[in-house]
Amino acid sequence: MDNHKLCSYCAAIDFEYLQNPTVDSILRLNKGAEIYGEYPFKFDTSDLVGPRWRLGTQQRIDESAATCPLCRAIVAVLDDSNLRSQKSALFAENPICQADIYWSAALKPPSETQWKLPASVSQGRFDRGSFSFYLRRMSLRWHSFESGESLEPGSIETTLDVVPRSWTVLNECFQTLDPEHHAATADLFHDERILSSQQLFGGRKRPALIDLELPKCWLKECLANHGQNCSRKDGVRKPKIISVFRLIDIEDKSLVEFQNADLENFRYATLSYIWGITPQRLQLKHGNLRALTSAGALNGTVSKTIEDAITFSSRMRLPYLWVDALCILQDDDDDKSTQIGSMGDIYKCALFTIVAGSGHDAEAGLPGLNLPRTAEQHEVLVKPATHGRPPIRLLSTLTPRRSHWAHYAEDLHWSSRGWTLQEKVLSRRVLTFTDQQLFWACRKCQWWEEAFLETNLAKTNWFSVQEREFVLDPSVAHSCVPEDPQAQVWYQLARLVRDYGERRLTIQGDAHDAFSAVLNECTSFVQEPFLWGLPASARFEIGLCWEPYREGLARREGLTTLPATTLKRKVPFPSWSWIGWEGAVVIRFEDKYIDEGIEPQVLCYILRNSPLRLVKVSRVAADNPRHVQVNFMIQNTKPTTPLAITLDAIYSNCPGLTPDRMSDTPDDELLFFWTEISRFTLSGPVKRTLRTSQRDHEIGQFEVLDAEGNVVGLTGACRTTVVEARGVKKDVEFVVIANNRPIQYPPQKIVLQVEQRDGVAYRVNIAEIREESWNSSIPNRVLIALG
Ligand SMILES: [Zn+2]
Ligand SMILES: [Zn+2]
Repeated sequence: MDNHKLCSYCAAIDFEYLQNPTVDSILRLNKGAEIYGEYPFKFDTSDLVGPRWRLGTQQRIDESAATCPLCRAIVAVLDDSNLRSQKSALFAENPICQADIYWSAALKPPSETQWKLPASVSQGRFDRGSFSFYLRRMSLRWHSFESGESLEPGSIETTLDVVPRSWTVLNECFQTLDPEHHAATADLFHDERILSSQQLFGGRKRPALIDLELPKCWLKECLANHGQNCSRKDGVRKPKIISVFRLIDIEDKSLVEFQNADLENFRYATLSYIWGITPQRLQLKHGNLRALTSAGALNGTVSKTIEDAITFSSRMRLPYLWVDALCILQDDDDDKSTQIGSMGDIYKCALFTIVAGSGHDAEAGLPGLNLPRTAEQHEVLVKPATHGRPPIRLLSTLTPRRSHWAHYAEDLHWSSRGWTLQEKVLSRRVLTFTDQQLFWACRKCQWWEEAFLETNLAKTNWFSVQEREFVLDPSVAHSCVPEDPQAQVWYQLARLVRDYGERRLTIQGDAHDAFSAVLNECTSFVQEPFLWGLPASARFEIGLCWEPYREGLARREGLTTLPATTLKRKVPFPSWSWIGWEGAVVIRFEDKYIDEGIEPQVLCYILRNSPLRLVKVSRVAADNPRHVQVNFMIQNTKPTTPLAITLDAIYSNCPGLTPDRMSDTPDDELLFFWTEISRFTLSGPVKRTLRTSQRDHEIGQFEVLDAEGNVVGLTGACRTTVVEARGVKKDVEFVVIANNRPIQYPPQKIVLQVEQRDGVAYRVNIAEIREESWNSSIPNRVLIALG
């Protein structure tokens, strides 16, 4: 195979960039030696854009594959990716291909160790005394030929200028492989056979079936050395008791029930998987509960993914497994409420969560457990050993990605489903089975089968993995946010909300339940309760300023799946909450929005029943229905401040909201606040296309016109499929919720576009209108009931 020489195009690539460190070199660095001059211990001249080489046209590569082993591997990688059929128009015109080498991970010293750089290199560059080296991988990109473009072999001068034309990329499709040591070894952290010449962080051949010694070794390492970060016990927090806890008994293949169980006393795994449209083979119901507790009842009766999860748990020597379909009574709303209320704790207390990342339903199974994986890793010797330098050998990766920052799980169908997000976020340790390989993620480390990453000699931060893991944990700090734990939690929540909005729920009514564990977890960190996904605190009013992210939103019709509130009724999702809408949103809970100049202008009260009362939203946590008789009386007296609201004020200001109607309104549906209301004309939509590395987004926004027809504001994005496609002009009502006074721009009013029905206003969209224009429209002061 390797007897063939590289073609002149491939031979021009400087593969030295891809070198990985050896055990010996890292040990020397850790002991204080200065090592510099050879990759990865070297900085390239282009820090932000990696080096690139021309590979000629795709047709040339196809022809050269007969003789050049790298061209042959490129063709194989391209064919495995299905890119030729997905981008058939581009490939029909024989595109130009180039090879890029770019940073994949930062390489840092282990805790309490510093690496030294020669003074000549570090001068003026790393004044904080800490720095990283970088591990690199090779990507391939294709674009259409432009006249005048060189087709000669050689490197391409790279600049930071944004390239206007579109690219198609397979990111990180080649990594280096240590030719001498590439087989999986059992206990990699402590294996004495590891030689000082062995390379770390390189590629590894992954077998067709998973070598279970690998996940066992990962779990062992995490339990032994990751301490509190990954521990399921919180130390200070109270025991996690659940009135009925059902588990699958792995050995007995049956269901077991525990009463008033403390979750932390059980050794079990949880399963996160897709139900899909194929009905599950077996679900727990009142009618089969007794039968399923007898030994062997689950033998051959459960869906394939669940069966595989039982097998895997058994091989990992766990006594129990928790699976929603079999551990929650599917025909009992009360049991569902209890279990869903404890879902966060159930996932958090599990030893690990098995993510079934393959397929579209519960019949997909766990690839690599009994069913061999088929994707191939292509190996190429690109540089023979010379003058004491080891040879360089490439190994194609199993999951090349379409965007540099795309996480390996991003394209899985599992990641598009609503319920799976909180299952992942709450889990301390996650084993993800994809069609190609097995991945580990805990709060401290990420490991996977196709690369040799198990070492404590140095730390690595894989940009596409570590920074993109969905967690809610202030100890896992993101580099773009201040290290303050609260700031970390609000930032992480914002990312989760945005991602959640893009996911699909089979039942729209699950929208709150499927995210409630994340909100509860958030409360445990920031000590603020939530009301329909908004913080019920002094942050609530700025929270109302949430806006659509990129595309617009669609209203979630229908009612909650489970009865909610004291009326024990299935209720509609309020329009003022982002949970009441489908689509990605940007929430504004972080302090930075206040710092940037947003000043809420309303003070919200929420209506509660039994007995009927108004509660200031920032005081919801202190609301106690047993003591409200007193408050109730107070609230019927005259308000003492301009923003305070009483029930009497509502009866006299909101026609249609009678005491009878209010008593029949479920808790936490209606918000009341004093504000200004005015009318403007909408014109549009103005459409534009936003290009991102993943896909194009069609964005439509309306212009806000004043009485003279001047453009004085802009609405948030609307779904272009939802809004009328042609030019529309219509009169609409807006209510103010905040001022926005950024330093360098004219002051704006943040307003909600509302529609009134039977005395209640409903949010349609958000908009910003110039403050000056708002004031000259002569708005009225009103008491608004927002539903
Ligand atoms: Zn070649
Ligand atoms: Zn860990």
